[in-house]
Amino acid sequence: MEWEVARKALCGIIGYLGPRAAAPLLLDSLKRLEYRGYDSAGVVVLAADGTPTAIKAPGKVETLLAKINGMEISGRVGMGHTRWATHGRPTYANAHPHSDCTGRFFVIHNGIIENFAELKRELIDGGHEFSSDTDSEVVPHLIEEYYAGDLVAATRRALGRLTGAYAVVVLSSTDPDTLIGARLNAPLVVGVGRDEWFLSSDLTAIIPYTKQALVLGEGDMAVLSPVGPVISSIVDGTESVPRVVRVDWDVIQAERGGFPSFMAKEISEQPAALENALRGRLLGDGRVEFADWALGDAELRAFERVQIVGTGTAYIAGLLTKYAIEDITGLPVAVDVASEWRYRPQPPDGKTLMVAISQSGETADTLAAARFARAQGSHLLALTNVVGSTLSLEADAVINMHAGPEICVVATKTFVNQVACGLLLAMRLGQARGSLPEADRRELGAALRWVPAVQRQILAREDSIAPLGKWLAGYQSALYVGRGYNYPVAMEAALKLKEVSYIHAEAYPAGELKHGPIALLDPGMPVVAFATESATREKIRSNVQESKARQSPILAITNDGDTALEGVADHVIEVPRLPEAVAPLATALVGQLLAYHAAMTKGLDVDRPRNLAKSVTVE
Ligand code: GLU
Repeated sequence: MEWEVARKALCGIIGYLGPRAAAPLLLDSLKRLEYRGYDSAGVVVLAADGTPTAIKAPGKVETLLAKINGMEISGRVGMGHTRWATHGRPTYANAHPHSDCTGRFFVIHNGIIENFAELKRELIDGGHEFSSDTDSEVVPHLIEEYYAGDLVAATRRALGRLTGAYAVVVLSSTDPDTLIGARLNAPLVVGVGRDEWFLSSDLTAIIPYTKQALVLGEGDMAVLSPVGPVISSIVDGTESVPRVVRVDWDVIQAERGGFPSFMAKEISEQPAALENALRGRLLGDGRVEFADWALGDAELRAFERVQIVGTGTAYIAGLLTKYAIEDITGLPVAVDVASEWRYRPQPPDGKTLMVAISQSGETADTLAAARFARAQGSHLLALTNVVGSTLSLEADAVINMHAGPEICVVATKTFVNQVACGLLLAMRLGQARGSLPEADRRELGAALRWVPAVQRQILAREDSIAPLGKWLAGYQSALYVGRGYNYPVAMEAALKLKEVSYIHAEAYPAGELKHGPIALLDPGMPVVAFATESATREKIRSNVQESKARQSPILAITNDGDTALEGVADHVIEVPRLPEAVAPLATALVGQLLAYHAAMTKGLDVDRPRNLAKSVTVE
């Protein structure tokens, strides 16, 4: 299915132009977009004379509905937004739609505008006044700046200034019959009804109204008016005839982008999610910048140690972050499970950089550990996926992992983005401390940029990985092993298997096998060995031989064309080669797919595994 575009939105957009009353339709669509997760919502509708009514609210669509209750909002053109904050907290001021200084131009936006800080500075210097902390607000002000009687031309010029990722919808009181949509690195489709048109980031919102859609290409703009949509390139205005597709999904299928589960959908979203994590942070020459982290090089040089805390998947991402920071900077790094560390903390101090990793930013144990460290004078850096979460509000600085909402209870794309942000952090520290030579920095940067393509290759091999997930489902227990960076990869893969398939899986550093777990090996205990390119590759090969000698069935994850385990491993999954520190971002997908297919073989609900909660807010 060609709904590649339907898979990578940060949050929800709906636009309408047609004969119906826009407000109820938009609110109904926003309710349908709720499943994605969001932190605020808003709508704007234009009356026939162009008078806008804009209403927004932090929190639930219900809150927005309560605000609107009883209001007469007339108008047949409008747009609505559910926001998943990336820049600025989930507040009223930061909710979309955003407007310009004159209150004429309205914009809703999904994605991240990389160069917003420069644009905002330029606009403020030019006399514009901003009312939010979002990156999105630069768009209406740019349109205002360029408007000279032609809304389409002004929008085209404004969008031409943006770099990054966006799906935007624009409307203006100057043109009450026009609705403009545009996309770059973020999804947006045009729904085609009978004399009515929709714009949406997600088919779920429009499926009750129409099954016909136009697929907008990268960098395309759709100008909707009562005579129909005109599609053109944002940059040069060249018109094109879009592809029309018919979607025979129901709402439930559409929510999952045609995938059988959110887990499958979110696994497939990882290349796009990773691109978002790198966006605006990893520069062309491999340097790393975090716009929201005010510490300069001198302050970063002053840290003498790093303490990382996390739980579950976040702890494992912390372990990979430890390896990267130690390798790149030589700084000593401790990583602990938050529930343990909080009761026996090694006294942190002003020389300690405290890194707290939590997808939700609400994990009780991580919060307690983070608070303790901060009270002792440590600089608290939060790595989280939820802007405005308790952890992010209490921290001195936040690295938002930009994975977008994750609905499946088990972490997939947030794990990968945590690891990516940890690696960027290591590079940033290495850069400040002068411990990352330019050539290495460039090489790491280039490899990181290459990872989404490698992830796509792994996803394309799912058909050969699926039977091995099925094979694992035939066992009651499995041992996962790896060395170096592959050890945490094995841990995460084993955790995934446990969580979704309920098969017992244990991860060990491969060198530890003979110090105990080797006693378990027999034909009923498979060994899954992560044996990709690394400094210890030869060693893990020996460990695999040892396991084979005990008659364990072996599944080895190796690199393309690597024949070293031929005749030893019963099954092999090959992945493209990447430098050791970067490879976990891609090999993690193999573990996820194995777990997913093992669980599907057993007919389990992968999105809601028994006994698990998405955000663990109790001790
Ligand atoms: N970057 C924008 C913001 O933080 C849009 C986020 C979204 O996609 O919802 O408001």
